[in-house]
Amino acid sequence: MTTILDDFSLEHPDNKNFGKTRRLKALSSRSSEFVEVEKLFSKGWQHPDKKKPKVSRIFKILASAQDLNGYHTYRAAVASSPSVKDRSKNPANEQLLFHGTNRYCSLGEDAGKSRLCHLSRCYLCRIIRSSFDISKCGSKHKFRRFGHGVYTTACSSKADDYSKNGEENSQFRAVLVSRVVVGNPHKRRFNATELTEPPCGHHSVLGEPGGDLNYEETVVYDNDAIRPAYLVIYGDAPAFKGNFKSLVVNLFKTPLAS
Ligand SMILES: [Zn+2]
Repeated sequence: MTTILDDFSLEHPDNKNFGKTRRLKALSSRSSEFVEVEKLFSKGWQHPDKKKPKVSRIFKILASAQDLNGYHTYRAAVASSPSVKDRSKNPANEQLLFHGTNRYCSLGEDAGKSRLCHLSRCYLCRIIRSSFDISKCGSKHKFRRFGHGVYTTACSSKADDYSKNGEENSQFRAVLVSRVVVGNPHKRRFNATELTEPPCGHHSVLGEPGGDLNYEETVVYDNDAIRPAYLVIYGDAPAFKGNFKSLVVNLFKTPLAS
């Protein structure tokens, strides 16, 4: 079988300074890739009651060609499946979708904080290191609207609802953007909590707003239907209340001569 070396692969020539212990590549805010992901984040921020935060950093998530192999094989199988309707441009219907989870370290808070931690409760680092694992699905949220799968969404403000910091004092939050093979989705407006796979002839379940949902979600049921692709760090610095003089006084605990 031919190994595909796409630009998420550690073996790709663009990524020669990276390796097993360096998996995050900071993107320049001027790069087209940064702009594209930032646009997705901005467009996906749909909750009217949540202020849209500023994107601070975006990292590309690299993995070994071996770890990406299962994804490429699955994507090719879906692309050639008889149930796929549009074979022209994106036959596997591959999409970039958001996922929010727990972060118990300061990963991504500045460009230098790009090493993954080993805390078992830090799901963010675990997913970046070894991708999604459906057997762990539901370990955080017991209710599974469309059954036993990996949940993603085009709605970044919905993923934000699931993005939790263990370190309460951080001004930043993080969401993952993943490559997802959506294929031919089964569209549903109502819950189906017993699903363990998409209905025959489909590759995913697409929950549409209108019935039980307020915002879209897409569920896949195969570990190889998804790989984390980007880490988006966002948030606004807390506004400083007070004037410069009181800041200096507080910092040095000495009154200033007036
Ligand atoms: Zn971590």
